[in-house]
Amino acid sequence: MELIDGNQIAAALIAELKAEVAQISGRKPCIALVRVGEDPASVSYVKKKEKTAAEIGITSRVILPPVTITPAELFALLDQLNSDPTVDGILVQSPLPKGFDEVAVFRRVLATKDVDGFNTLNLGKIAQEDPSGFVSCTPAGIMELLARSGVDLKGKHVVVVGRSLIVGKPVALLALQKKAGANGTVTICHSQTRDLPGIVRQADVLIAAIGRAEMITADMVKPGVVVIDVGINRLPDPSKKSGFRLVGDVHFPTVSLLASKITPVPGGVGPMTVAMLMKNTVKAFRLQAAH
Ligand code: NDP
Repeated sequence: MELIDGNQIAAALIAELKAEVAQISGRKPCIALVRVGEDPASVSYVKKKEKTAAEIGITSRVILPPVTITPAELFALLDQLNSDPTVDGILVQSPLPKGFDEVAVFRRVLATKDVDGFNTLNLGKIAQEDPSGFVSCTPAGIMELLARSGVDLKGKHVVVVGRSLIVGKPVALLALQKKAGANGTVTICHSQTRDLPGIVRQADVLIAAIGRAEMITADMVKPGVVVIDVGINRLPDPSKKSGFRLVGDVHFPTVSLLASKITPVPGGVGPMTVAMLMKNTVKAFRLQAAH
């Protein structure tokens, strides 16, 4: 079994971006990070994004509106950022507090600054295989992990478990694309799928984006499978200072014995998500500079 080391691959990507940004004279790429509320996971994700941006030389502008902000006020803030020529990318940290229509918020971000790739136009561009759009960071990170680990999806049976707009659907479309590294034969499963184990067992490449701790067990995979575990789940663990440990959607101790390659949790997909956000920000800067 070979471990697909997301930390190492993300570090390589970050070093490449750092070298690229160093070549930019004058104003550096800038990302606005908007976080509403104090969701602990969101606080740590935004911190990580800010830190990675600084490491690369990308300017970040962290905006923390009060939790009492109304949807209309948030729209006004996004409109302001949309028209600010010194802001290249905008990220609104999900989840937003109750009362916000997240999809409407994602739509409000200008497509050319939508570095998170959740805008309708950018999601559509994945389906159209139009490379001018922004691919959402987790699916893009998964494809980058596979490519940099030497996994070519051509002709392989790729089983995606999960059909969210954030991970499952876009990654399935990317795996299906008619381009080098992709060309997979894709099956998408979800909570209503009949005989999930039977389908997962057929996978040459399994992408698990479910959000259920260690749900995929060794009896559900075939030997030699490549496993990308997107899930981030907290299991109570009194031996840890935090009181919990992070696990994926795949039961790593047993599935890793059968897999040819597998991502760990943490240290697999997670670091790639942040690295791809930075890659998208540099792309947005180039787009803005070209106009
Ligand atoms: P969602 O909850 O939006 O989607 C989960 C999907 O899994 C749904 O399509 C759901 O089906 C399906 N599902 C749930 N239970 C089952 C089941 N028992 N059998 C089969 N399918 C099931 O989650 P996300 O896509 O946003 O995230 C998935 C996981 O990935 C989470 O753990 C999340 O924390 C993690 N994540 C990690 C990221 C990273 O950077 N590493 C980034 C984003 C997410 P249905 O549609 O029918 O409800």
